[in-house]
Amino acid sequence: MLYNLREYHRPRDLDEALRLLQRPEIRTVPLAGGTDLVGQRNPDVEAVVDLSELGLDTIHTEDGVLRLGAMVRLQTIVEQLGDAFGGLLAEAAHRMAGWNIRNVATIGGTLAAGKVDSPLGVALAALGAEMAVTGQDELIPWPGVPAGGLQGRLITAVELRLAEGKVGTAYEQVARTPVDQPIVSAAAVVREVESGTLSARVAVGGLLASGLKLLDFDIQWPDLSGLDALTADINPADVKSDYLGRPDYRLAIAPVVARRALSAALARIGYETEAEGGTAS
Ligand SMILES: Cc1cc2nc3c(=O)[nH]c(=O)nc-3n(C[C@H](O)[C@H](O)[C@H](O)COP(=O)(O)OP(=O)(O)OC[C@H]3O[C@@H](n4cnc5c(N)ncnc54)[C@H](O)[C@@H]3O)c2cc1C
Repeated sequence: MLYNLREYHRPRDLDEALRLLQRPEIRTVPLAGGTDLVGQRNPDVEAVVDLSELGLDTIHTEDGVLRLGAMVRLQTIVEQLGDAFGGLLAEAAHRMAGWNIRNVATIGGTLAAGKVDSPLGVALAALGAEMAVTGQDELIPWPGVPAGGLQGRLITAVELRLAEGKVGTAYEQVARTPVDQPIVSAAAVVREVESGTLSARVAVGGLLASGLKLLDFDIQWPDLSGLDALTADINPADVKSDYLGRPDYRLAIAPVVARRALSAALARIGYETEAEGGTAS
């Protein structure tokens, strides 16, 4: 609960929402699904601005870019974007939480709450997602925050460029149970440049204490040695440590999870490693 909440606003206009959020005299924050905000019990929050009437819940594609409004619910991603990016977005959204939470929580709230190591956070990074933020002309690559932070600002949309040609994607994680939050996770996106030549991006969550580990590299099939750089330059002191996993475990398992994701992404466009019983098509 927000025990010191005194005002609730539900504006229909973005400028009005920003005016309310930027008032110096009363600490006002955006309310999306509220699943993270309400649980924080932050005594400093005195007013909320409900974003649900701002028309930020649309999904559309234009000029090869998929644009998701910040108020698109996680369950909407599951239901409507199963075909996008080989199903990576829908799978990651599905893994975020159970049905009840997914019906309320939004993509904008997830990113604003800084859920970098969450399944959706990892998948969006692998896909090269960018955020549209009020007061900022340039899109901001995820994960990232605008200079000066999000105070008094809103994420209005998340944009993803749709790639042409053969693109394979996959998400893998290790967790205590299949429905638990990941200890270490990886999303891989591979694009065929020409037959036997591919570009790859792998995003790994739960490895670095400071956030996601991103790795871009080229593949001359079947040489996947570019992935070796994933942990090569990591100082063990920089590895995440919490009740879910010790640093040495995370450092050891991250390359395994990343390789699984990479192999699965490759297999989806016909490049199967020998361990999976095939060769490139
Ligand atoms: C039972 C339960 C299970 C959960 N499981 C998980 C889990 O497994 N993994 C996980 O990562 N999270 C989990 N969460 C946390 C939470 O559901 C997610 O972080 C959720 O995606 C937040 O989205 P929301 O729309 O509810 O955000 P809100 O709670 O409304 O907002 C989150 C924060 O972002 C700000 N904000 C919201 N929208 C915007 C915007 N457009 N622009 C700027 N700022 C904004 C808010 O002011 C607030 O500070 C769980 C929560 C619950 C209650």
